[in-house]
Amino acid sequence: MKYDVIIIGAGPGGIFSTYELLKRRPELKVAVFEAGNPLEKRRCPIDGKNVKSCINCKTCAIMNGFGGAGAFSDGKYNITNDFGGSLYQYIGKEKALELMKYVDEINMTHGGGNTKMYSTSGSEFKKICMQNKLNLLDASVRHLGTDINYIVLENLFAELKDKADFYFNTPIDQIEALEDGYRVLYGSETAEGRKCIVSVGRSGSKWMEAICEEMGIPTRSNRVDIGVRIELPAVIFSHLTDKLYESKIVYRTEKFEDAVRTFCMNPNGIVVNENTNGIVTVNGHSFEDPERKTDNTNFALLVAKHFSEPFKDSNEYGESIARLSNMLGGGVIVQRFGDLERGRRSTEKRIEEGTVTPTLDATPGDLSLVLPKRILDGIIEMIYALDKIAPGTANDDTLLYGVEVKFYNMEVELDNHLETNYKGLYVIGDGSGVTHSLSHASASGVYVATEIIENM
Ligand SMILES: Cc1cc2nc3c(=O)[nH]c(=O)nc-3n(C[C@H](O)[C@H](O)[C@H](O)COP(=O)(O)OP(=O)(O)OC[C@H]3O[C@@H](n4cnc5c(N)ncnc54)[C@H](O)[C@@H]3O)c2cc1C
Repeated sequence: MKYDVIIIGAGPGGIFSTYELLKRRPELKVAVFEAGNPLEKRRCPIDGKNVKSCINCKTCAIMNGFGGAGAFSDGKYNITNDFGGSLYQYIGKEKALELMKYVDEINMTHGGGNTKMYSTSGSEFKKICMQNKLNLLDASVRHLGTDINYIVLENLFAELKDKADFYFNTPIDQIEALEDGYRVLYGSETAEGRKCIVSVGRSGSKWMEAICEEMGIPTRSNRVDIGVRIELPAVIFSHLTDKLYESKIVYRTEKFEDAVRTFCMNPNGIVVNENTNGIVTVNGHSFEDPERKTDNTNFALLVAKHFSEPFKDSNEYGESIARLSNMLGGGVIVQRFGDLERGRRSTEKRIEEGTVTPTLDATPGDLSLVLPKRILDGIIEMIYALDKIAPGTANDDTLLYGVEVKFYNMEVELDNHLETNYKGLYVIGDGSGVTHSLSHASASGVYVATEIIENM
């Protein structure tokens, strides 16, 4: 099979490349290879009754399939260069923002039209945060919500399915460079393309590493973010979330001068399990539909760690900590802040007696047995700092779920076209280590599609 462009991975990066290529050049022959299922077949078997914890499916319905890791996400498209990736370092700040806005327009015309855009600009919270040694980062955020995000993906697939060849449940094993393009190998079959876009996300990190090693594509180690997910009554943060929806706040700890930051805030949302390469960590999301909203808000508190010499596998460090929590808790551990402060584990009874009803069925335990002291001290300091702008954050009944780990792929060495040292072989999205968000990954897809068309 001969294609003009082969795309590996149907997450936001792959979808927006496909969209842009076919919008501009409908005659192009494009193939999309995806390890997971089509959107409608993506079902996580955990139902809380018959299946309570991860059973390690062949491909994870949460992470793999059309829509990628973003399919059941909260659908928060942050339009900013301040976080979510370093795409701007390759394509320039203006271009990056322009493309993120363009992606937002596409989402709006594909079902997201009635959703709200929030912004930190002109907000009074910046000053309040500063007065309390907290730094509120600038951003505009479109909150699609898990339900509308799904509808947007359905609409995009409906538009693309007859224009490109989609191969689901088809993980690519290998890439071979040819004289005038690339051959991809899957099982005993192959396909060829003049250009190849690799967009395999975080779940494809190990595969990406192996491909780079085999093909001699240079890489650099990246950081890993480790921490917990906080869950508390939504009213405690409502003055912030009503206005900003999500606030990215950074705190520099007094003890170690480490930066602790809030991440992925979900007002009236739920806490969920996440499975990366068989390791169960915690995440969260929320729905636009008022009927599916809860009384709780959740967000992560994360500390970044970067290793270089002699140990350089930052992800392995994060994985080891997550494995330890899985070993002690059989999955995710939950602990009341009051229990953590008193140096004792949480129990079913203590959690039940608390005022915060957990939205995730996690194992009550002791996070101080899992998280390194330096990271835990930083998180505790940050909770007290947040308590000053959102009193009640440091209440005894505030729940901490652990561990939350944000794995970043190693950074693939790319030029300003997001092209590798192989002409016509592009790596985009989270799989490149350059992006780690829906908006940046999507924007990188549009960017590369434009580059390919202009050079064809
Ligand atoms: C629960 C959750 C909530 C999140 N919430 C948000 C949010 O609100 N806002 C935000 O900005 N970000 C959020 N994120 C992160 C966001 O989803 C990712 O940054 C984004 O999806 C990255 O897009 P991508 O296309 O680069 O990769 P992915 O979305 O990971 O897609 C990669 C795809 O490639 C496929 N693949 C992997 N290897 C192969 C192979 N060898 N062959 C074929 N296919 C392969 C995978 O199956 C996957 O479908 C969330 C993530 C999770 C897990």
